[in-house]
Amino acid sequence: MRNEDVLRYRAETPGCAEVVHLNNAGAALPPEPVVQTVIEYLREEARRGGYETAAAAQDRVQGVYASVARLLGAEADDIALTDNATRSWQAVFYALRFEPGDRILTSRSEYASNVISYLQVARRTGAVVEVVADDETGQVDVADLRRRLDSRVKLISMNHVPTQGGLVNPAEEIGEAAAEAGVPFLLDACQSAGQLDLDVRRLRCDALSGTGRKYLRGPRGTGFLYVSPRLRERLEPATLDLHSATWTAPDEYEIQPSAKRFEVWERNFGLTLGLGAAVDYALAVGLPAIEERVTALAASLREQLSELDSVTVHDQGARKCGLVTFSTPRLPALEIKERLGKAGINTSVTQRTSAQYDFTDRGLPDLVRASVHYYNTEDELRQLTGELARLLS
Ligand SMILES: *Cc1c(COP(=O)(O)O)cnc(C)c1O
Repeated sequence: MRNEDVLRYRAETPGCAEVVHLNNAGAALPPEPVVQTVIEYLREEARRGGYETAAAAQDRVQGVYASVARLLGAEADDIALTDNATRSWQAVFYALRFEPGDRILTSRSEYASNVISYLQVARRTGAVVEVVADDETGQVDVADLRRRLDSRVKLISMNHVPTQGGLVNPAEEIGEAAAEAGVPFLLDACQSAGQLDLDVRRLRCDALSGTGRKYLRGPRGTGFLYVSPRLRERLEPATLDLHSATWTAPDEYEIQPSAKRFEVWERNFGLTLGLGAAVDYALAVGLPAIEERVTALAASLREQLSELDSVTVHDQGARKCGLVTFSTPRLPALEIKERLGKAGINTSVTQRTSAQYDFTDRGLPDLVRASVHYYNTEDELRQLTGELARLLS
């Protein structure tokens, strides 16, 4: 990415003039076209009426499905638009049927909401949750995954990038193992969508969930879901309404063939269009270029942090991305985050309750998470490390 492009993207991002934003894994700063799209839609609804505005915007809304499909290498019919990644993920997970002894394979770095759902369903059905081992780099050990595969494994459900660090799990190899065994693979791409170049054909996942507000730079309250035609066919949504299905006769209904079977009728169309604007913006910048710059900036930040006395960087994996996590015995993570915030630098804190398996296994303290995006600069990274050095001196 050329420096002049970075300057242009920054100029198109109002927040870049206000803060050093290193909380992109929480919610990235939206570019102006996203903000404008949402505001204009809301004004239009106020002027013309909500239903009338939606009718006039029908083609644009359909275009959002096409944009998300392009982002993922999918077809528009494979895409559902939702409120967030959790709702997307739940729509698939809670549609699956488990019997006593069925096995769910997941990763050690798994996200809290996903694990809470596994545990709930395991308690209800007698299914068993199994955590696949990591290899020596800290990523999912695909050989261990393969050894565990048998006819009782009903689901492989793992994250691509966890919430608590720069790890990138080998999703393509996991997808290959899943496809060979004929086991559905649900990929939580919440942290990878918008920072890594994703393609569901390469990933060989049957379903993929993502959110708008994180690396995609979309509005809060938006999410999306990919479900392959093959999985869709076998999967009846846990809940239905007059949008996901049609009441065709007094005693009959028909479920939508497309992934819209996982949606509900009512939604915020302004936010949906904002998500579309964010996806189009990311596609115009280019995912390979985003991935390259984010990876390089994060590597530079890790190097600078590890030069600071008493600071430990915790990111694992053979391949790392834009999330950088660290701690120091000198100051609690929460205090670091708050004091950086007062200096105009946004970071976040990741705690044990977000990723129990990982925090417990590695004996991690609360972590400060500094997650970089392509619109961040080396100068901003130096502001973070400079301020941190002052706090620790
Ligand atoms: C943030 C996050 C989620 C949940 O996303 P929401 O949009 O908040 O529902 C799921 N998985 C991972 C790895 C996350 O970081």
